[in-house]
This record gives sequence, C-alpha cells and structure tokens, in this order.
Amino acid sequence: MSNTSNTPPRKPNKVNMPKFNLNWFYLFLALALGSLFLFNDSNMGAKSVAFSEFQKYVSNGYVNNIITYNDASVEAYIKPEHVKDVFAADSNEVGKNPLVLTEAPSTDSMDRFIKQETDNGHFNGKAEYKTKRNYIASFFWQLFPFALLIVFWIYMSRRLGGGTGSGGGGIFSVGKSRAQLYEKGANNSKITFKDVAGLAEAKQEVEEIVEFLKEPQKYTDLGGKIPKGALLVGPPGTGKTLLAKAVAGEADVPFFSLAGSDFVEMFVGVGASRVRDLFRQAKEKAPCIIFIDEIDAVGRSRAKAAAMGGNDERENTLNQLLTEMDGFGSNSGVIILAATNRVDVLDKALLRAGRFDRQIHVDLPDLNERKEVFFVHLRPIKIDETVDVDLLARQTPGFSGADIANVCNEAALIAARHGKKFVGKQDFLDAVDRIVGGLEKKTKITTEAERRSIAMHEAGHATISWLLEYANPLIKVTIVPRGQSLGAAWYLPEERQITTKEQMLDQMCATLGGRAAEELFLEHISTGAMNDLERITRQAYSMIAYYGMSEQLPNLCYYNNDEYSFTRPYSEKTAELIDQEVKKMINEQYERAKTILAEHKAGHNQLAQLLIDKEVIYSEDVEHIFGKRPWASRSEEIINNNNTLEAEKEASTSENSDASKENDAPKKDGETTETVA
Ligand code: ADP
Ligand code: ZN
Repeated sequence: MSNTSNTPPRKPNKVNMPKFNLNWFYLFLALALGSLFLFNDSNMGAKSVAFSEFQKYVSNGYVNNIITYNDASVEAYIKPEHVKDVFAADSNEVGKNPLVLTEAPSTDSMDRFIKQETDNGHFNGKAEYKTKRNYIASFFWQLFPFALLIVFWIYMSRRLGGGTGSGGGGIFSVGKSRAQLYEKGANNSKITFKDVAGLAEAKQEVEEIVEFLKEPQKYTDLGGKIPKGALLVGPPGTGKTLLAKAVAGEADVPFFSLAGSDFVEMFVGVGASRVRDLFRQAKEKAPCIIFIDEIDAVGRSRAKAAAMGGNDERENTLNQLLTEMDGFGSNSGVIILAATNRVDVLDKALLRAGRFDRQIHVDLPDLNERKEVFFVHLRPIKIDETVDVDLLARQTPGFSGADIANVCNEAALIAARHGKKFVGKQDFLDAVDRIVGGLEKKTKITTEAERRSIAMHEAGHATISWLLEYANPLIKVTIVPRGQSLGAAWYLPEERQITTKEQMLDQMCATLGGRAAEELFLEHISTGAMNDLERITRQAYSMIAYYGMSEQLPNLCYYNNDEYSFTRPYSEKTAELIDQEVKKMINEQYERAKTILAEHKAGHNQLAQLLIDKEVIYSEDVEHIFGKRPWASRSEEIINNNNTLEAEKEASTSENSDASKENDAPKKDGETTETVA
C-alpha cells in the first residue's frame, strides 16, 4: 500500500493570455474626463466676453434671458435678431440660441445691473438665479457606481478565470470548455506507445482505436461502426492519461484533455454548456481524441445522486454529455476516452452501447512491467553501474507507474543532495523507502518508553505473522518514525485472487498481534493500534456481511454497491446479529493472538529488544529467533513470482487512516476468477 506517492503534475502549464489590465480602466477614466472638459469648452455658439462688453449688449437690448450663477458667472442668451451683431456670424452657424458667457464682479452687482436695465427698458427678458453645478464632483458621483461595477467585474473575472489558470477570458468564458488542447504535430510533447511501458493488453486494445482514427474508411466500408468511446479503468497513476495521450500521438491527431471536475462549476448550467463547447471544438478538429480524466466526477449514477437530494447541476452536465455522445455520428472521427477508478459508481447510461461501450483495464504493473517502467524512466537519469533494475523492480511491488516515475526522480534528488555525479543503487533504495513510508524522521522525538511501546507492538505483529501459516511473511520491521507513522512492518503478501477464511483469520490475528503484545507485556494499551483496529473491523464486517463467512449468517451477501442508499438490505435483527458476529470473530482472534504471544514470550521480548537496539530488523533476524518458517519455501516462491509488498503502518494520528479505505471494498474479481478457474 504505497499511498504516499505524490502524483506528478499531469497538465502542462497553460499559456496565459494577457489579463485584463487595470491600466485600461485608468485610461478610460482619463478619456472620459478629458472629453467632458472638451465638451464644456466647445459649447457651440458660446462666447466669453468681458463684463463691460456684456453690459453693452444688455444696454443695446440684444439680450433675451440672463442666468446668474452663485459664483457670479453669467450666461446670457442673445436674441436671434441680434446674433449677427454679437457674433458676427449667421444664426445657423452659432445655433438658434447662442450664449454669451461672462463673469460679473458679484451676484449683487449683477442684480442691481439687471434691475437698472429693466427699469430703463433695455432688458425685458427673464432673469434667473441658479446654483452652479460642480461638474467634476457630479461627474464622479455619476461615475461612482460604474466604477464599483467595473472593479467588481474585474475581481470576478480574476477569480473565475484566473483561479484555474484558464487565462484571459474571465467571466465571459465560464461556459467555455476548460479542455487542454494538444495540437497534432507538436512533436516536442508527442507521446507514443514507446513511452508507455507494460500494459500490453491495454495497448493492444487501443491500437485498434489508433487504426480507426488513421483509416476510418477501412472499417466503415465494411459497414462497421467506429466506437465512440472507451473507458480506461484502473487505479490512479497506472498510466491511463499517458495511454490516451499515446493514442493521440500514434494517430497523430489533436488531443483534448480535461478532468471530469472541470465541468462542475458553481453556476447552474455551466457544466452543460462546457460539454457543448467541448464537443463543438472537437468536431472542428476531427479526427481527434477527447480525454476525460476522473469521469466519475460527472458520471456518477443519477439515481444514487437523487437519493442524496440530488445535484441538478451534475445531472444536467451528465445528460448533456450523453446527448452529445449520441448526437455525433459514429464516423465523425471524434473518439472519447475516459478514465476512472470506479466503474461501479458510473451511471449505467454511460456504459451503454454507443457510448463508453468498451472498457480497457489498466492494472498495477507486475514485476516485468515494473522493470519496463523503470527502463522508461531511467532513460533521462545518469546512473552508475551499481543500479540493478531487476532488484529495483523486485523492491517495488504494488507501485504504480507514477510511483516508479517518482522513485526515479526522488533518487536523482537524493543523489544530487549528496553531491554525487551519478545516481547509485542506494539512492534508489532510499527513494523507495521514502515513497513507501514518507521521509524518515530521525528527529521526531520518541521517548524511551514510547520506543519500547512501539517495539513491543511491532514485535507482536512480527512474531505472530511468523508463526501463523497463512499470515503474510515479514520482510522488514522498523521503529523509525516515518511520516505519520511511528513504526512500520513490511510484509510480502501472497498474490491471490481467492482468499480463504483461514487466510483472512490468520491475517486478522497477526494484525491484532500489536495490541495483544501491548496488553500482555506492557499492561497498558495505547492509541498506536488504531489503524490496525480499523482495518480488522472493516475486514471482519466484510467477511461476515459480504462473504458469508460466519456461522450465524452463512452464505449470505449483503453487499450493496449503492453508496447513497441509506436503507440496509437486511433487518434490524440481522444488523444486530452481524455486530455480534463481528465482535465474536475479533475477540476470538485477539485471544488467539494473546495465547500465541504468551507461548512465545521469550522470543517476542528478544525481538522487541532487538528492535530497540537496531531500529530496523529483517526477516533473517526473526528467523534467527524463531527458526525457519515451515512454510518458507512458499514465500521464496512468492518472491520470485512478483508480488505486492505491503507496508503496514501504525497511525500516530488518525489522519492517515483513510488512506486505505477503498482497498477493502469486497473484491469483485473474486467472483470472476472463480468462474474462470
Ligand atoms: P493516471 O491517469 O492513470 O492516473 P498517468 O497517466 O497520469 O496516470 O500517469 C502519471 C505518470 O506516471 C505518467 O506521466 C508517467 O510518467 C508515469 N507512468 C504511469 N504509468 C506508466 C507506464 N505504464 N509507463 C511509463 N510511465 C508511466
Ligand atoms: Zn500495528
């Protein structure tokens, strides 16, 4: 269980388009202000004159209306028949009601002047008094809401667009597909089957898709229909994305890549419009490949979602996806590849013929495949002659392709840190350990008592797994804290498709060995066993409720893969019975563990002391104490046959306890192998 791998970044950096610049906003403001002043000044047919000049116009009887402002500026309208006298121009040049502007000494003097001119009959128009508008202030007040809006808009577009790195489009592109496009002919990033190690069967299956894309008429001429989609099923990091890219690379067609979660957005309807947009773009580029990673983000069964109160948005997105897949003709040259780890949660409609009707299984690599993956990833690394790929492949059971890529990279980093010219064997081994268990934390302080407690616990596991026939043989035990765990034991589990009840019980007993040793030899139990207890509880429930392995409830399987259903397929009474049986089973195994440990107390304590002294012990040390396992030949055989190395960790906190949650779901393949066998 090497869940600690860091998934390498999958997506190349997107090319960022220039973002909306705040400078544009300032420029816009300046322009607006400037034009306002210009407009003000170029008041058509207005003429600024001295006050004395203005008085003359009034005395001559040219003036029609006068507006006096509080700041003693004056606007006067000239009578149409006198326009010529004032402006020396025609009225159609200066407008119908031309203005004369002037500054009076004060409003009072203006008032007196108007009175006087009215009295002597020179002025008979209207005299008004007004408060002057402050153009600039009022302009800002009018602009303020707009400015607010603009600022808000910029903020929103940054949030929406910028957050996901999709660049310039901002808010206007929420409905656009987020797909990453790898154009054909971009040779520098072209991935071919050469880059994909192992996965022989999967490659063979997709080979056909490459053929479809290259020569569609070969198939359509015979009346065959080109498949629309294929589903790559397998655990993360096994190279599903890589395989899809290789298909595009081999067929030399454009490749659209996006994750299922890219469709999902906080706005209603966005997902659906993104799907539409994606297919529109794809059709333009046909023939091409669309790759949707983690399709379960949108493709979860609708019925199940509805039971949860439903997520209309996701449902709409899924419906749109189904519609689009139906909508394009099978010879349009667009092929959809999707990846998921969990086919069982996908909506059945997605798996129907004409949609993702092909499933290609991409599994964790076996020994030989791991060797191939190592060869691929060792290519760019400078290694010295000590590196033995065989050994590395053997040391990395259960690793995915991504984990191995990670090991190679990590080894190079470790070597560089030590100032080496080449990467050596030890660097790789350190890298493997680091990826399995997280970084060694020699500095993490454990007290003498804690170390003793951890050593007792680990020795308990080691002792029992050594003494029980079906328990996984131990390879290495350590009490060096790593990452979240305080101690760890590595076992070599047998690869098997069918597990017997005895094997499961022995395993359970060995897992309980840690807690049992604490209780027997330390007289107080600790939190260190939480991870163990969680695992065996889950195991016991699945044995009883799913595999029908208990005496009270034989041959009954209550497995229900509908994760949203809250109704149990059994009665309250049965639920109680299951609980009872689980308790009984665990108690039995716990007692068994204690009996074995009590019997082998001397050996156990010796082992624990050895652990305290050496920190790391290997199977040889255990063999030294307890003698050869009678079943040793079997484990030798296993080593030669490639298997899964399992690191069992003790959680020091509860945080890492969900890492292995998914693993214990009842093995579906148990059934299939049975029918084949
Ligand atoms: P998935 O999509 O299945 O989660 P990826 O295809 O993204 O996994 O794999 C991540 C990385 O792991 C790849 O970029 C590649 O470097 C490495 N990798 C995984 N499987 C293989 C393989 N079979 N051969 C070579 N490299 C692999
Ligand atoms: Zn334990």
